[in-house]
Amino acid sequence: MAIESINPYTGRRLRRYAAFSWAKTERILAQAHRAAVQWRTTTFAERAAVLRRAAALLRERQEDLARLMALEMGKPLRDGRAEAQKCAACCDFYAAHAENFLADELVKTDAGRSFISHAPLGVVLAIMPWNFPLWQVVRFAAPALMAGNVGLLKHAPNVPQCALALEKIFHDAGLPPAAFRTLLIETDLVEKLLADDRLRAVTLTGSERAGSAVAAAAGQHIKKTVLELGGSDPFIVLADADVALAAQTAAQARMINAGQSCIAAKRFIIEKPVYREFVQLLKGHLAQLRYGDPLDEATDYGPLARPDLADGLAQQVADSVAQGAKIELAGGQAQPGATRFDPMVLSNIKPGQRAYTEELFGPVALVFVAKDAADAVRLANDSRFGLGAAVWTRDVAQGEALARQLESGAVFINGLVKSMNELPFGGVKKSGYGRELSALGIREFVNQKSVWIA
Ligand code: NAP
Repeated sequence: MAIESINPYTGRRLRRYAAFSWAKTERILAQAHRAAVQWRTTTFAERAAVLRRAAALLRERQEDLARLMALEMGKPLRDGRAEAQKCAACCDFYAAHAENFLADELVKTDAGRSFISHAPLGVVLAIMPWNFPLWQVVRFAAPALMAGNVGLLKHAPNVPQCALALEKIFHDAGLPPAAFRTLLIETDLVEKLLADDRLRAVTLTGSERAGSAVAAAAGQHIKKTVLELGGSDPFIVLADADVALAAQTAAQARMINAGQSCIAAKRFIIEKPVYREFVQLLKGHLAQLRYGDPLDEATDYGPLARPDLADGLAQQVADSVAQGAKIELAGGQAQPGATRFDPMVLSNIKPGQRAYTEELFGPVALVFVAKDAADAVRLANDSRFGLGAAVWTRDVAQGEALARQLESGAVFINGLVKSMNELPFGGVKKSGYGRELSALGIREFVNQKSVWIA
């Protein structure tokens, strides 16, 4: 795929970039490696000062950043501003807490004194998707840089301007330039990077296919990986829930980023007595949302990020309908090649249908009837994915009991699944492994070293 910005709302090409050669990429890797040797010797206070300045710049430049995201991948301006602010908060969070998260841990053994220390690994490659073009990167970069690592970013080819804007923010914040670089490279150079001993680890946020390919290559070279992959999050509503609030939140949860979010609720599993009421309310909320230009403040949802993604989603829906799924709310694409994709609701989703087994990365809600709470958990866990999950019930003790049975990296009871600095984020099963954010996230790319002193 060419490295170029194309406005998905108008189809107009905005910029095109020549991909870096291997010679240029290798030069940047060499510089990053040298920067890592120096950056690891800086104090937490020095690193925190850089991260705090980066946070200030993210806030200062939020209008420009929101505009870039709108133009490159179709995110409405207000969501773009919120994303820039969330990134700033993440930088501030790790500036404040990294030293504490990575403090030596004393352990009682037969030694006079023994402890676990946390040393940086060196150069870490981040392979990132376009859907939250700033957030996905910052939630890797802020902890990695605070831990004393340096980062190389291979972003998705449709958001090069976002990638370069973020690189500039870190540089303007005073980070040594070689300690964070955007590589405008095609996928074939990733394997060459992974084979190089100067690169120590890789994190990938993206599809199962990409995660599997990168982890296989990294495994061949004994490199640590973190994988943040797809999801098909269940949203369980029990009969005793506040159905009106659940349905309102459900529409919001499905429509995050025009439905293009790994932790968007995708499978709505509703206990029988409230199923019809919930579906009616959900349809009502979805039908009210306004499509439009992401640069227009009145827009609720913009286009999907690329026409091929909209075509692929339309095909998944068409195949599922041919396999027996029922359309509860019509929407989708007006014609192939269109990036506009209106919200849809599908019911009668059965094993064997594409919608049952695959992730639908766009505004298509799947509704299921559950006989009871146990049936809801069975349906929720009958998925190859395990990223987030939501449970709606007025019986919080039961909600908590169900949370323990759900196969997912996070469960939110009576709330919208979201990523937050304080709690670990990641998945199980085909949603990946490893954790980002919180104290666990910053420990993924460190050498947890045992020190034993007689
Ligand atoms: P994608 O096609 O997998 O691309 C993600 C990144 O991986 C891009 O930079 C892509 O670059 C790169 N890539 C793909 N194949 C590769 C390979 N063989 N070797 C090296 N790099 C490779 O995913 P997407 O369509 O952009 O994003 C949607 C997916 O991401 C969904 O499944 C979604 O659920 C998941 N996601 C997960 C999370 C999470 O935190 N768990 C968050 C957001 C999104 P090229 O395009 O240049 O190949």
